[in-house]
Amino acid sequence: MSQHHHCHARGCVRRVPPKLLMCPGHWRMVPTPLRAEIWRTYRPGQEVDKRPSAEYLAAARAAIDAVADLEAARDRRGRPASRLFAPSLFGDGDEGGGRADG
Ligand SMILES: [Zn+2]
Repeated sequence: MSQHHHCHARGCVRRVPPKLLMCPGHWRMVPTPLRAEIWRTYRPGQEVDKRPSAEYLAAARAAIDAVADLEAARDRRGRPASRLFAPSLFGDGDEGGGRADG
């Protein structure tokens, strides 16, 4: 039986130690309260006897969903830098030098 374990984020096949839920890149995307919940419900040895608590599984599933949502939102939005400049914010037709303060 092969014993490798991989990141639980959807579509990620990076190998991680069995006691970690995700690779470091995905783990960083998990909201802090969920990370705390996962560590709170983690029981040392659960990855050996394969009997994590229901609480741990619920927290793990929520973390996996949160990461999937973030990745989907990022894909939908494309590169964030492309939206930094929004010409409509500056109005238009105000470029002719017609200062009103004179
Ligand atoms: Zn990953």
